[in-house]
Amino acid sequence: MKKDNFRSPDFYSTDTLFNEEQLLVRDAVREWVKENVSPIIEDCALSGKFPDHLIKKLAEIGGFGGFLPSKYGGAEIDYTSYGLMMQELERGDSAIRVLSSVQSIVMNTIYSLGSEDQKLNYLPKLASGEIIGSFGMSEPSHGSDPSSMMSHYEEKDGYYLVNGSKMWIGHAPICDLAVVWAKGPSNKFGGFIVERNTEGFTTAKIEKKWSFRASETGELIFQNMKVPKENLLVETDNIKDLFNRLNIGRFGVAWGTLGIAMECYDVALKYSSERKQFGNNINSYQLIQKKLVDMLTEITKSQVLTWRLGLLMDKDEASFEQISMAKKINVKMACEVAKISRSVLGGMGITGEYPIMRHINNLEALVTYQGTDEIHTLIIGKKITGISAIK
Ligand SMILES: Cc1cc2nc3c(=O)[nH]c(=O)nc-3n(C[C@H](O)[C@H](O)[C@H](O)COP(=O)(O)OP(=O)(O)OC[C@H]3O[C@@H](n4cnc5c(N)ncnc54)[C@H](O)[C@@H]3O)c2cc1C
Repeated sequence: MKKDNFRSPDFYSTDTLFNEEQLLVRDAVREWVKENVSPIIEDCALSGKFPDHLIKKLAEIGGFGGFLPSKYGGAEIDYTSYGLMMQELERGDSAIRVLSSVQSIVMNTIYSLGSEDQKLNYLPKLASGEIIGSFGMSEPSHGSDPSSMMSHYEEKDGYYLVNGSKMWIGHAPICDLAVVWAKGPSNKFGGFIVERNTEGFTTAKIEKKWSFRASETGELIFQNMKVPKENLLVETDNIKDLFNRLNIGRFGVAWGTLGIAMECYDVALKYSSERKQFGNNINSYQLIQKKLVDMLTEITKSQVLTWRLGLLMDKDEASFEQISMAKKINVKMACEVAKISRSVLGGMGITGEYPIMRHINNLEALVTYQGTDEIHTLIIGKKITGISAIK
């Protein structure tokens, strides 16, 4: 496949930092997105339709938990390859990256905390897309502060009785199972695998949203829900056991938002080379060139940072705080790049003829999703001062 077939800003030759396998994954996913996502995604976003026909297709290219061992349905790719996959999927649309990400968070949680029986029972089905998972931590009254969650459980004879609810949960309305968190006796946290047909378990869809329009988001509701004993994943008094599950999701957002920025830059570069005003292509004007240079500069800095984060993940050396910094930087960078891109396109920038406004809308959720900019700032602030500013 010829490299120049691809749109891809690479001013600092970061491509040379990736190995052959990583580039193969990236290029294959990029082609897959062009073939399967680009032709339909604008209509899906406009009509608020989740493209469920892509579930099985995404599974076929290792889109679900690809970094896990093959014994559990994974493709044994490294984290950098997984990151490049997120970059390309979100370049298509956040809904598609979310589809892969949520499934992968659920799988990673079961893989890292579950028993061998739980892994063998659920992971291959999640990997193949036979079942869809959701991950329920946030609640209506506790988003940034999940340690104060109200969902609670108590142990009964043969089952756990769980009450409460979860809010803003990706794939809640369509999930076959949910990994959910609740508080138990002595301030312990319990993680549970909840199957769709569990007594007392229902879901609801959030209908009116202007972001992640092609994604299903909703609530998980537990009303005297009876979770069989064998579906307990973990019981812990350390909140970090919950927070660490978010690492793979935040890593995915860091890469995904880089993909959005790359797409917005490419579209602006092409549009400005074709659009004429005052008798010349607009890319010949200094103010437009400055915009293009500003976009490329920010993308280039993020490409180097994100590559480095992938390497740290592959060496199992990436800290929670380093992942926070990449999530925070890349979301902010992509917001700025997308807005500049929209201005380069003038009025066309707000239409569905181009992906820019859709990405801008998605970025509004990404500022909040997987931890807000403020919370990541406080996480890093605590790391460098040793003082938690969260009281
Ligand atoms: C589209 C979408 C999908 C999502 N998917 C999932 C999912 O699959 N699973 C899941 O568990 N969650 C999910 N979430 C929830 C997400 O993680 C939360 O929205 C996020 O953690 C913020 O919580 P909140 O919305 O309740 O905002 P709040 O916590 O109420 O925060 C409101 C504002 O206050 C700020 N703030 C809060 N505390 C402080 C402080 N100490 N200092 C300074 N500022 C502060 C925040 O930064 C924010 O700006 C999703 C969210 C969205 C929007």
